[in-house]
Amino acid sequence: MNRELLQALSNAFGPSGYEEEVLRSAEPFLNGLSYENDAMNNLYIRLPGEKRDGRPVLLLDAHLDECGMMVQSIADDGSLRIILLGGMHPTSLPAHSVRIRNRKGEYVRGIIAAEPVHFMTEEERKHTNVAVETLKLDVGAVSREEVIEFFGIHEGDPIVPDVSFDYDEKHGLCFGKAFDNRVGCAAIIEIMQRLKEDGDAGNLAVIPTAALAAQEEVGERGATVTAQRVKPDLAIVFEGSPSDDFYFGVQQAQCRMGEGTQIRIMDKSYISNPAFISVAEQIAAKYHIRYQEAVRRGGGTNASVISLTNHAVPVLVLGVPSRYVHSHYNFCKAADVDATIELAYRLVRELGSDEVKHILRKDILGGRA
Ligand SMILES: [Zn+2]
Repeated sequence: MNRELLQALSNAFGPSGYEEEVLRSAEPFLNGLSYENDAMNNLYIRLPGEKRDGRPVLLLDAHLDECGMMVQSIADDGSLRIILLGGMHPTSLPAHSVRIRNRKGEYVRGIIAAEPVHFMTEEERKHTNVAVETLKLDVGAVSREEVIEFFGIHEGDPIVPDVSFDYDEKHGLCFGKAFDNRVGCAAIIEIMQRLKEDGDAGNLAVIPTAALAAQEEVGERGATVTAQRVKPDLAIVFEGSPSDDFYFGVQQAQCRMGEGTQIRIMDKSYISNPAFISVAEQIAAKYHIRYQEAVRRGGGTNASVISLTNHAVPVLVLGVPSRYVHSHYNFCKAADVDATIELAYRLVRELGSDEVKHILRKDILGGRA
């Protein structure tokens, strides 16, 4: 795992719709690759000399955006109201600091206020109710005028959790924000760099190409565009998947930190192509790569929209187990990032045309005139 890359991406400011800083943070790591962004902040990354020569196109997808917030309104007393960008739960927000970006591009620190214990009745202390609409964001101002004129903050300014990346080398442990899904973005950039260094992409059975998509957390909007543009035949979606090991027993947990990459059999948005999974698991066995299968009752990924484009796109969904995604602080293990990178990289290199036909189900009926 390239720690500097994950650090740069994790620290980057990029809630849904405001991913520009993530693009700029990624750029120094794209040396030797060709890349461009579109008007929505989607980032397309190709191997040098990529040629569409009739081989199937394999899209590597991850989303660039993170769960964040937006300034919804500014009250006379100088407190701000917020609206969510993505699925954070309101109970995870009070008593946390955030960064707001104003229209001049300056970052302002704020505190999402927890109702002070001093002003609560006995009853309120036992049952606090948290609704996003009632949360107050405090930037240290005393009036609406001060918020606007002195802090330069307006309605509509974007907000992210205020967290800095840290790596604990001794335990191989990453700490930071937005591992959903900057770990996926980091994995794809590393894979593209390895494929570029191999220098033999023209001999592969597939054409690997990457698109990092904006606005996933508000409904897979970026991938709706990237899939139309790339027109993939197959895809691998990378995710920072919610780690469940503290919430289920060992038998039931399916996203345990340190147990390898997660291969998602289904979630609410997509039922995976079983042929793709069996090919991936054969490769994992061959290279001794750790993985765990998951059948998720909830959740969804960009596979939902990518699978429905072109002539139906089989998607493999790989997840790096990440604790507390969609809240301020996350943990993940470098070994799980490595397992995810290794499995996808080997898959790209070793997919043969027979396996691609099998995954595309050309071996069921084929075509008859
Ligand atoms: Zn995600």
